[in-house]
Amino acid sequence: MQTLQTGQCGLCNHFGEHHAQAAVLVTIHSSKTAEPTLLDECGHPKHAALHLKVTPISGCDGFIPAAEA
Ligand code: SF4
Repeated sequence: MQTLQTGQCGLCNHFGEHHAQAAVLVTIHSSKTAEPTLLDECGHPKHAALHLKVTPISGCDGFIPAAEA
């Protein structure tokens, strides 16, 4: 497990946003930790068509905070 900082995909609203209620994502948001090897889709409109897969420790300037659980 790795601690996540604001700006990293694991804490971004676009990380796996099409299944945002999944237990793994809820756990990441509440604990602010994640397995760095996890892959999920980025749903950012500029990336979605590319089916970009990112890890919780990735990041980009499109970051918006995930809604608090
Ligand atoms: S790549 Fe950017 S927009 Fe996509 S989940 Fe990561 S921080 Fe969010």
